[in-house]
Amino acid sequence: MENCIFCKMANKEIEPKVVYEDAEILAFYDIAPKMPVHVLIIPKKHIASLAEAQEEDLALLGKMQLVAKKIAEELGISESGYRLVSNCRADSGQEVPHLHYHLIGGKKMGIFC
Ligand code: AMP
Ligand code: ZN
Repeated sequence: MENCIFCKMANKEIEPKVVYEDAEILAFYDIAPKMPVHVLIIPKKHIASLAEAQEEDLALLGKMQLVAKKIAEELGISESGYRLVSNCRADSGQEVPHLHYHLIGGKKMGIFC
């Protein structure tokens, strides 16, 4: 997708600080971390948000969650706990219209609104 910043990361036009990569998924550190650990996990395929995901994306979405679990273990937040968040469309505050999971942790979190 032209002009999508996360597609540019997926195809290496922009080089993020990579935490994990395979043929379908890329994970990298958020440029403006809101927590001690803040990683973004994206599909390399352009999907604008969870609302645009299709039945054919089922395995990909599942894999993204298992990648989150693996990264949490590698970054040492698996025992203490973490949160996986995906903002979807305007009311959530989604800024980048390419599906991503925020993996956040490293300190105690409050409940969110
Ligand atoms: P959202 O509001 O859910 O769309 O989150 C977008 C996230 O992308 C924000 O936490 C931004 O800090 C992050 N972000 C935007 N541009 C970049 C970038 N070039 N590299 C890494 N993270 C980015
Ligand atoms: Zn994209």
